[in-house]
Amino acid sequence: MRGRDYRASLRDRRVVHLNGRRVDDLTADPTYAPAVERIEQTYDETFRSGPDATNSLLVAPRSREDLQAQLPLIGSVDVLLLLTYQTLMTLVVAAQRLPESAAHNADRILDFVDDAQRRDVRAALCITDAKGHRRLPPSRQPDPDAYLRVVHRTSTGIVIRGAKLHVSGASLAHELLVMPTKTMKPGEEDWSVACAVPVATPGVTVIDRAYFDPSRPREDQPVSHRESVPSGFVVFDDVEVPHDRVFLDGLTAQAAVFAHSLGLWARLISLANMVRQADLLVGLAELIAEANGIQDIPHVREKIDEMLIHATLLRAGQVAAVAEAQPTRDGYYVPNDLYANATKYLGASRLSVMFRNLHDIAGGLAITVPSTADLASAATGGYLAKYLQAAEGASASERMALFHAIRDATADVYGGWQMVESLQGAGGLYAQRVVTRHHYDMDRAKADARESAGLPPGPQDG
Ligand SMILES: Cc1cc2nc3c(=O)[nH]c(=O)nc-3n(C[C@H](O)[C@H](O)[C@H](O)COP(=O)(O)OP(=O)(O)OC[C@H]3O[C@@H](n4cnc5c(N)ncnc54)[C@H](O)[C@@H]3O)c2cc1C
Repeated sequence: MRGRDYRASLRDRRVVHLNGRRVDDLTADPTYAPAVERIEQTYDETFRSGPDATNSLLVAPRSREDLQAQLPLIGSVDVLLLLTYQTLMTLVVAAQRLPESAAHNADRILDFVDDAQRRDVRAALCITDAKGHRRLPPSRQPDPDAYLRVVHRTSTGIVIRGAKLHVSGASLAHELLVMPTKTMKPGEEDWSVACAVPVATPGVTVIDRAYFDPSRPREDQPVSHRESVPSGFVVFDDVEVPHDRVFLDGLTAQAAVFAHSLGLWARLISLANMVRQADLLVGLAELIAEANGIQDIPHVREKIDEMLIHATLLRAGQVAAVAEAQPTRDGYYVPNDLYANATKYLGASRLSVMFRNLHDIAGGLAITVPSTADLASAATGGYLAKYLQAAEGASASERMALFHAIRDATADVYGGWQMVESLQGAGGLYAQRVVTRHHYDMDRAKADARESAGLPPGPQDG
């Protein structure tokens, strides 16, 4: 597809609601405009012609070098393509992890991946259920729909009901990959379901939340408008899914295969975003310090040093996760679990410190800077040009642009979004702690500690 084909493909009667109203045509709605434009742009940039052409990012890596080669693309393309990458890579890995007895499911999965690559469609990941009472399993919830489930089985397929929350890019995608959010136990067969559903299927309703504000100039939202992708609360109200799109139905022992496979790729994308974000924050801190004339003051330098050390460690973690990528059974390469999870944890848990240092350096204009429209206004522009000057060589409009970038990236709707997303997106801090501990070589650490303490080797020390 080219960009214009993507735009046309959105006019398919999908049911999307935003701020209390139905959005009849996403391509004509100003809230969606920057996201649609960015996705269109990536379609055009990555377009390849020919009947067998596929987007090079959507091909599962067969070596560490393949994975390494994908990193620059991962760092530059739009969010929906990244979600599609995660979706298709998740399916490729999940297909291999299903047992022989579920070979027909694996075949369907791989057929779907081929078809999605050929059609060049975009996909969103529907994992997180409404979950109701967090301590109760699906089968003991007062409302059995708290976790998405199969409500009927017919001769042609299944009928599903439930809601998947926080789904990034749902309204702008073509396909929704539905999968269980957790492990399931015997008796939870109806909740052990994975399938692919086109967004424009009867019974699917997306209730969106967006951070791009079309009533404000894009210049006032310089960071977020480029990253703008709404999150959808996706309701499946008795949605029919034909057999060839059902990847799991009733196999409780395999329910977690999909979410675990996703974890590998989700953390790679999270890491790429964190690395990019950390460098952005360091760059903004240095530029605003220069524009304010304080870049050589010791406490400012120390704060920026602290930020750039953090940014460097995140990059190192990303490099290690790819350099130590692990082969799967079928010879695909996935990021190293230990390094990916530990780095994601570090990035998420210290984002608030990065924000704090930047706010400390930038000053109050980080939130109170007037609009760029006020600088352009004949009535107020002169005042702003006069009083926004600071260090020699830094114009008022440059300082204003920097303050808007800082406010947008860290202190306004998108900044708050980033704070929560870094913690919760791709699983919370707890999830990364569990996986890191699982892969960390604790025996080696204990053996070293015993030796240092002059103790004899423990029972498991080599
Ligand atoms: C911006 C954003 C984008 C996202 N994108 C997607 C997406 O595209 N697709 C998707 O499917 N999901 C997406 N998510 C969802 C994300 O994975 C979840 O937010 C995350 O897994 C936490 O789930 P929750 O929000 O339901 O919070 P909860 O599950 O309510 O968790 C809140 C806290 O309660 C704790 N907790 C909950 N249950 C228990 C328990 N039984 N025992 C102990 N502690 C418990 C958690 O550890 C956590 O600390 C996104 C989230 C955000 C914020």
